[in-house]
Amino acid sequence: MGTKGREIVKLDVIELIELLNKAYADEWLAYYQYWVSAQIVKGRMKNAVVSELTEHAGDELKHAEMLSERILQLGGAPITNITELNDRANCKYAEPTNPDSVEILKQGIDGERCAIDVYNKLLDIVAHKDSVTYHVILEILEDEVEHEDDFEVILEDIQRGGE
Ligand code: MG
Ligand code: FE
Ligand code: FE
Repeated sequence: MGTKGREIVKLDVIELIELLNKAYADEWLAYYQYWVSAQIVKGRMKNAVVSELTEHAGDELKHAEMLSERILQLGGAPITNITELNDRANCKYAEPTNPDSVEILKQGIDGERCAIDVYNKLLDIVAHKDSVTYHVILEILEDEVEHEDDFEVILEDIQRGGE
């Protein structure tokens, strides 16, 4: 734990760790949702959807690692209980019960919009109070904005008749 690194955080560190752990849970659920969706997806633009889901799954796992690293630096620990990941998440896991590519994309778009909201609010909380966390969250938010756009572009292609 970095002592001086913690001292410069002008926030309740315990509360901040809780917020970061909730986001960490979101990332794990998003990772699994995209990973398993890539296994089962069918229908129009299937190959494009599989490659985007696979890429995004990797990004969400990287986000989980970034959050875990920051949580540990702040003196906390990432959630270790698998049930707690589901219980403490901001953005609920959307089980891909329908493997059709349109439904999978819509679930992904909803998930990215939830993530964008979460990180945008977190940025407001840490702005001018914890610059290191701000930098981590901004980097993640940039990815989530790109993810929403990536999914929307494929969905628009399908709606225009793309196969
Ligand atoms: Mg992408
Ligand atoms: Fe993410
Ligand atoms: Fe994402």
